[in-house]
Amino acid sequence: AGKLAATKAEIARKTETHPCFNGCGSQYARMHLPIAPKCNIQCNYCVRKFDCPNESRPGVTTEVLSPEEAARKYQMVKEKIPNLKVVGIAGPGDSLAEFEKTRRTLELIREADPEVTFCLSTNGLLLPLYADELVQLGVSHVTVTMNAVNATIGAKIYKHVDYMGNRYYGEVGAAILMANQMAGLKRLTALGVVCKVNIVMLKGINEFHIPIVVAKAKELGCEITNIMQMIPVKGSAFENMPLTSNKEITEMRKKCELSMKQMYHCRQCRADAIGTLDNDQSINFRGCTGGSCS
Ligand code: SF4
Ligand code: SF4
Repeated sequence: AGKLAATKAEIARKTETHPCFNGCGSQYARMHLPIAPKCNIQCNYCVRKFDCPNESRPGVTTEVLSPEEAARKYQMVKEKIPNLKVVGIAGPGDSLAEFEKTRRTLELIREADPEVTFCLSTNGLLLPLYADELVQLGVSHVTVTMNAVNATIGAKIYKHVDYMGNRYYGEVGAAILMANQMAGLKRLTALGVVCKVNIVMLKGINEFHIPIVVAKAKELGCEITNIMQMIPVKGSAFENMPLTSNKEITEMRKKCELSMKQMYHCRQCRADAIGTLDNDQSINFRGCTGGSCS
């Protein structure tokens, strides 16, 4: 068995001060550090000029920071926003696709602040490879976007998956991705990490399959699921897909809530979001990693 993430009590305390686990109105702040531009899969609802829509709302491309710049930015924000508790890595691509950058960033920030909570979101493809190391680095919260647990459905959502030097398409690619997501989540929850599963609700594709994904997330020991709307991106394969309404999302969450805790307030924040969930201050900190930002 690997080293546990932290004591149960420590993790519970970190969850209490994690705004995403406590809803709007939480006084605590989080910041996303945009250090991970690459991605190793292709979701049909994504165009890679934008932030990863699995965790971050696609807008303009967020500026990408080096690990050193990210650590400087963290220090700067922490000085201005003392209730900053959580550092999240949410892209703009996949946080594990270039793991060296993620590792270095977490190491630098941990050196400067032993108390900070690390939260990471990923498509999960490389989780089995890195789950243990993430725990060692002090990551206590992980989000995986898992839209299906059935390869036929998955093949309609993922165009291809790049894994160990090969590109896989269709059901083969989807099967590799899903197997890794599930193995990764199982390992993380066994090590005490608090896991959330994001599910993008796609009309005519996975809408009736979502309760099965939620049941799987529960079986794997996850804490909460976040059923989300697809944000249509111009130029993506799903650009013209009919949208799921807020009402349909809420109904699905209510249905799934009978078996598992649901997230109702996720804002699909940008990959460089900063502040409390109610008050994004990222604009004040953009392009200011040189240390002279006011
Ligand atoms: Fe895009 Fe995120 Fe999917 Fe990668 S994981 S293709 S960045 S939506
Ligand atoms: Fe929290 Fe959702 Fe924003 Fe992530 S994207 S920081 S879970 S509100």
